[in-house]
Parts: sequence; C-alpha cells; structure tokens
Amino acid sequence: MTMRRIVVVGNGIAGLTACDSLRSAGFDGELTVVGAERHHPYSRPALSKALLHGDDALHAHELPEPTHEATELLGVGAAGLDPDARLVRLDGGGELPYDGLVIASGSRAKRLGPGAHQRGAGGAQQDGPVRELTLRTIEDAILLKESVASRPSVIVIGGGPLGMEVASGCLHVGCEVTLVSDVTPLSHQLGDHLAGIFTSAAVGRGLRVVGGGKARLADHGDGAKVVLADGTELKADLVVTAIGDEPNVDWLAGSGLLTDGSLRVDSRGRMRPDIAAAGDVAFFPTLRGVQRVPLWTSAIDQAKVAAVGLLQGDAAPEFNFQPYFWTEGFGLSLKAVGFTPVAGEPDYCEPGAEGESLLLRWDNPDGSGTAAAVNYRIPVPKLRRLADAGPDALRSPALRPPAPARV
Ligand SMILES: Cc1cc2nc3c(=O)[nH]c(=O)nc-3n(C[C@H](O)[C@H](O)[C@H](O)COP(=O)(O)OP(=O)(O)OC[C@H]3O[C@@H](n4cnc5c(N)ncnc54)[C@H](O)[C@@H]3O)c2cc1C
Repeated sequence: MTMRRIVVVGNGIAGLTACDSLRSAGFDGELTVVGAERHHPYSRPALSKALLHGDDALHAHELPEPTHEATELLGVGAAGLDPDARLVRLDGGGELPYDGLVIASGSRAKRLGPGAHQRGAGGAQQDGPVRELTLRTIEDAILLKESVASRPSVIVIGGGPLGMEVASGCLHVGCEVTLVSDVTPLSHQLGDHLAGIFTSAAVGRGLRVVGGGKARLADHGDGAKVVLADGTELKADLVVTAIGDEPNVDWLAGSGLLTDGSLRVDSRGRMRPDIAAAGDVAFFPTLRGVQRVPLWTSAIDQAKVAAVGLLQGDAAPEFNFQPYFWTEGFGLSLKAVGFTPVAGEPDYCEPGAEGESLLLRWDNPDGSGTAAAVNYRIPVPKLRRLADAGPDALRSPALRPPAPARV
C-alpha cells in the first residue's frame, strides 16, 4: 500500500535515524514521532563519558537539531497499539492512525530496588529507603553528577561497560569507589583478554573490585549497605546500579506483536509489512542468532534498514550486521569491530606508537574476525578492514596514506 502517514514511536537515536532515513529514501508524507522524553534526541553514550568526567563537557550529549520535519510529540508516551486498526494509542487519551509504524521505544535501566521493573533483575530485594541511582537519561546523568560532586563513597553494582564507565567517572572526580562484580569486569562483554587490560588499569587507579554473589540493597542510616549472597557487607554513601537494560515493550502488551515477551524483526527490520522496529527494543537475526544488540551504532544501522524495509518491502536490502562498540575509562579507550566477547589471546597484536596502545585481532570460531584498538589511533573503516580481512589488509595500498607531493 502507499504510505502517506508514518508514525515513529521513540525519539532516541533509532527513532531519529528512522525519521532521517525515511526522508532520504523519498518519503514525503506525514511523519509523526512520539517521544516519552521531553528532549530532542541526545547522545546517551556521552552521559557516562564526557558528561560525567568534566565540568567543561556539559554539552557533550547534544546532537544537531533534527531536520526531518516530523511532527514531534515530545513528553508523550505511546500507551497501546492496535495493529489491525493501525492505531497508536497515546498516554492521556488520543490516537494516532498510521499507514506505517516504526517501533523505536528503546530500553530502560534494570534496577535492584522495589518500585522498579524487577523482571530479569535477579529478584534482588531492597530492605529500606536506600537511594539507588541508575544511568539511562539526561536527568539521571545530572542527578549522578550532582550526587558525586561532594565526593561521596560509591558502590557501583555491575561490571559491564556502563558500570565500569560510571566507576571511572566517580574515581575521576575523587570518590572512593567499590565495584561489585562476580567476574572480571567486562569479561562477559569483551572476553578475558580485553577485560584484563581494563581491569588492571582500573585497579591501578584505585578501583576496588568485590565479588560475592547476588547483591541486595539495605538501609544504612544516611548511606547505603549492599549485602552480597556470601554475607559480605559493603557500606557507602551512594549506590549506583548498572545491571543491564530491559526493552520498553509494555505498551505493546495485547498487540499480538510480542513473541515470549520480545519484539522480533526479520532481516529487513520488519514484523509485518506495515510495522518495523529498530534499536535497543528489537531482537534481530545476526550471525550469532537472533539477539538484541543494545549499542549506539547498532541502533543507527538497524533504523536505516527498518526505514527502507518499511517503504520498499521485500525489495529492500537485508541487514548485514557488523557490531561496532566503544568504551572509555581509567585512561583507556577501546574501539572494537566484530562480535564480542572474544575467546582467548589475540591472533594478532601490534603495539602502537604511544605507550599502552595496542591493535589486536581475533579469528573467531564462526569464521568472522574481531578487531580492537586500545588507545590506538585508527579510523573505524580501517579497523573494519582489519576485522574483515586480517592484518595484511592494513598494508594494502588502498589504505596507505597518499604519498606527499614532490616539489
Ligand atoms: C549511559 C549510557 C552509555 C552508553 N554508552 C554506549 C557506548 O559507549 N557505546 C555504545 O555502542 N552504546 C552505548 N550505550 C547504548 C546506546 O546508548 C543505546 O544502544 C542507544 O541509545 C539505543 O537507542 P534507541 O533509540 O534504540 O533507544 P533509546 O535511546 O532508549 O531511546 C528510546 C526512546 O523511546 C522513548 N520511549 C520509550 N517508551 C516509549 C513509549 N511507549 N512511547 C514513546 N516513547 C517511548 C524513551 O523515553 C527514549 O527516549 C550507552 C547507553 C547508556 C544508557
């Protein structure tokens, strides 16, 4: 059918990219974006990096103003969906009819405490009125930044990239920081080799890493107590949890679109010819099975595919997904192209010109490659070549810088 009205639910980077991509693919009809946050899209990755680290980086999360000329309903949530009638129901009443729909409602932080979304959080309990901070939105980031300004002692629960970035930011401003993780931080996401590099740097800068099983929050006067399954008790002024995210699919309950509670799209980002989904909310087919890949560039790449999939149907190109991930902390920066975690030692390792910089590559058992640059200056396209084709690709003439002109 001809699409004259497209609604995009979610105004994060996936929603923004879907709007831009619909326009660049020629859609000149009525475009409406519904966003629960009151802001234009902003960079979530900046919230745990530049924004947390420095007073001079208060605008690090800002993105350029949208140019897609959609009607933006900001501060408005979608409350329900009737896919047969092609209607999105809005919080507080009101309905939006559509010919095409992009679901880009992202995800939210899991929490340990009550009153929170417990699903998948390990069923942990909170005994008292401990204030548990999480980091997902700009408001969370401002609250966290204000809370650590007086240099409280901090317990960070969760040894993934977000927990490590928060721990790094808190150390940077002078807090005493304990990170709770049962495994070497980052090992589940990156593999032991890269996790070891980051954890050594973190411990060298004063991070205390403690394991002891499932964590429980408990009241402790003005501060917080964390009790681990093995009985270990940790006390601090502040607790920040970084225990993962869960997709915002509540508004789709009853729509018939969820499979075992999750939103699954095909290789063109679609669930039905008139509904596509992209970003942290969506499971999609990858080389490593159907999965959710809650990363910034994954959201962008998925949204581009989903927008064209919605407009062109089976004629649209399929998603050829290659993960790209970056993180920063403890004086290190990492860029990685390809699937992680990587197993074992790298098959290729090249030290960089500056101390502690490394360029690494793994041959994965599925035949793909993963390339990683630790404090190593390399453009992402070149890192992709290394992941795809191995170290010889770096020496091919196409990638050498042009020779200086002779005079
Ligand atoms: C602190 C932090 C640091 C990160 N750092 C990195 C990093 O270094 N590298 C990396 O690759 N990734 C990083 N990520 C992950 C990355 O930011 C996400 O993968 C990306 O933002 C996902 O974009 P999205 O548009 O799919 O979802 P979101 O950014 O979650 O946006 C979805 C939007 O939809 C809104 N919404 C939800 N439900 C509804 C509804 N019912 N109606 C209307 N609107 C709704 C939400 O309020 C939100 O504004 C980080 C994430 C965080 C939180």
